[in-house]
Amino acid sequence: MRVSFPYMGATIIYGKLLELLGHEVIMPPRPTRKTIELGVKYSPEFACFPFKVLLGTYLECLDKGVDLFVTTGGQGPCRAGFYGELHKKILENLGYEVDFIIFDPPWRGFEKFYKQILTLKKDNSWPEVLRVIHTVYQMCKSLDKIEKTITTIRAYAGQEWAGLNKSWQDILRAYSRIETARDVARVEKEALEEIKKYNLQLAPVEKRIRIGIVGEIYVVMEASINGNIEEILNSFGAEVERSLYLSTYIDETIFPWIGRKEKEKLCQKARGYINLNIGGHARLSVGQIVDFKDRGFDGVIHLKPFACLPELISESMLEKLSADLDLPILSLSIDEQTAEANLLTRLDAFVDFIKYRKANCEERMSLSG
Ligand code: SF4
Repeated sequence: MRVSFPYMGATIIYGKLLELLGHEVIMPPRPTRKTIELGVKYSPEFACFPFKVLLGTYLECLDKGVDLFVTTGGQGPCRAGFYGELHKKILENLGYEVDFIIFDPPWRGFEKFYKQILTLKKDNSWPEVLRVIHTVYQMCKSLDKIEKTITTIRAYAGQEWAGLNKSWQDILRAYSRIETARDVARVEKEALEEIKKYNLQLAPVEKRIRIGIVGEIYVVMEASINGNIEEILNSFGAEVERSLYLSTYIDETIFPWIGRKEKEKLCQKARGYINLNIGGHARLSVGQIVDFKDRGFDGVIHLKPFACLPELISESMLEKLSADLDLPILSLSIDEQTAEANLLTRLDAFVDFIKYRKANCEERMSLSG
């Protein structure tokens, strides 16, 4: 049985999990304009944008003979909970025969969850399954750590830009060859040494520009859909950190006892703006904005897919948040019409504004001092 999954962020992690369990894995292709066009063509017009891109990805994978897609359901009151079923229905109507495993958090139905695990487990022993999960989880944590390092120091890459990007691709290839948890420690050490070789230094605190990215999970994590926003910001000299990495999502949904503390902290920070779970990551997005401010970030970019209701609500809080926190916040809506030049111009202006603001603030401080 050929298995595939949606393309979102660090796809090598999902691929590795299935591969180590002995499945024949078809890696989904990175979404392109063609993927988006395919998805848009066969999706309901008012479906949210990630729904359309995922449908396009599924159609491209089906051309490679995929029999089973493994994906996750949704949390709280948003449409992600219906994604899998609706995708399946549309694909059936188009004449494709394909199965789906849609993972919801285990507490929403342990029996169903257990059956799905049994399908993916194949004939591996339980100790072997635990070993694989441990390896992949460690790999995920480690890869997120390296990615954060890259999106921080790449802001200072200058002449080393191409070399560092090439090293990042080599590092990803090294991660994709991992077989055991011991390999993770070795690959991480080699990756850090590789990055260190560029001898890039962070700017002094008063010159550092740090930008946080928050919003809906798919557009925050998937560079091919958000126009490679982290790389663009780095090229303007800004360090970048996202609100969501794959490991945070896993801690939040699969191992909630690990992610509970962080989630509670963010909900607490969102108090007074959004007090309820309104679906997706909207409430956490607001908490993250406050958290980025508390951690001394200079600005936040909020990403919202077109037709995303939860993020539409968090977007309505941005003006007040920006005023209350004295923090520049830029909100971007992402859909099939998003143009690269438009994105570049807005990001360029946003970073310039933050630099100007910081320089002005420094000048005021030196005058008053
Ligand atoms: S969070 Fe928004 S974009 Fe994501 S599934 Fe829910 S409504 Fe759609």
